[in-house]
Amino acid sequence: MKWSLKLGRILGIDVYIHFTFLLLLGFVGLAAWMQGGTAWSAISAVFLWSAMFLCVLLHEYGHALAARKYGIATRDITLLPIGGVARLERMPDKPRQELWVAVAGPLVNVIISAGLALGLILGGSWRPSGAFDLLAGNIAERLLYVNLFLVVFNLLPAFPMDGGRVLRALLAMRMPYARATSIAASIGQGMAILFGFIGLFGPYMLILIAVFVWFGAGQEAAAAEIRTSLEGARVCDAMLTEFHTLSPEQTIGEASRMLLAGSQQDFPVVENGVVVGMLRRTDLFNGLKAHGENYPVAEAMRREVTFVDPAQALDFAVAQVNAEHGTTVVALENGRIAGLLTAENIGEYFFIRAALAKRGQQPPPIPGARPSAPPLIRPPLIPHHGETTAR
Ligand code: ZN
Repeated sequence: MKWSLKLGRILGIDVYIHFTFLLLLGFVGLAAWMQGGTAWSAISAVFLWSAMFLCVLLHEYGHALAARKYGIATRDITLLPIGGVARLERMPDKPRQELWVAVAGPLVNVIISAGLALGLILGGSWRPSGAFDLLAGNIAERLLYVNLFLVVFNLLPAFPMDGGRVLRALLAMRMPYARATSIAASIGQGMAILFGFIGLFGPYMLILIAVFVWFGAGQEAAAAEIRTSLEGARVCDAMLTEFHTLSPEQTIGEASRMLLAGSQQDFPVVENGVVVGMLRRTDLFNGLKAHGENYPVAEAMRREVTFVDPAQALDFAVAQVNAEHGTTVVALENGRIAGLLTAENIGEYFFIRAALAKRGQQPPPIPGARPSAPPLIRPPLIPHHGETTAR
């Protein structure tokens, strides 16, 4: 994520903190200092907020480690002022697995709450104040309330909250995935209307949550529709098989002429038959701006290339293309490029399939793609999956 600072790598997952989050900490410290008047009140407020976000981070690790158990890697975790985001490489496709991955986050906060409550009770001196105050009171007690809030808030049965996924997973155990999603999304949007309505009478925060939930539910329903409509399709069904490649010695001037001549936007860079990088349209523009036409492709390209298997299930590959923000991924077969998978091609394939489905037909095979259908690869983790780096 842009504007993020890397905190470190814990248990094999990169943890980032967003710049706005640091601003928030600064603001909290300043507000406490102005209210309390001492450096100590500022330090204790910053400490409390940092501890709160440590609980959010642990929550995200709950999701990430549960996903890892099912062979799903997590790209990174970012802490934002509104909470944490764990970017899973994909969502699990078995309802039971989705249920566990979704529950694991709030479960961490349940465990932390239990630990804090036990500590407070054993400490003997705890008299529950019953009211939550961010600026005053026992820090352990305030953290306990924060964790309880995280449990309740995240378990609201509405997308994009964890509770929405729990609900969908429970429904999907009894009915098709698409129907489960549409019911869960409708319940979520119903809750959004309710929150919005209650919010009108005072707790304005609820209006914000309502908007957040409304769009989250809509997004989830659309994603599920795409996933269902791509069921059974493989990467080789939708990939681009007529494409051009560049060599590292070529100049970006030559690349810009190739860009103009055709409709291809991202060019794989190949050296001795091996993909060594990818020159995207934006890299090309940036290179031209900074260095002019004679700049070599080898300098302008990016070396990180995502590879997929042509026999891989298309819906998983779509998740990868999305994770790369729509950047072209390379379909590699026995070390050679078999095709390119672009957001545009996926969209075209989607519409062709939808149009033919109305007539009860299948899309035609792509010229150049293998005629005999290879077995559909749907393993938990493909050998060169995701962040494969070509160097
Ligand atoms: Zn969560």
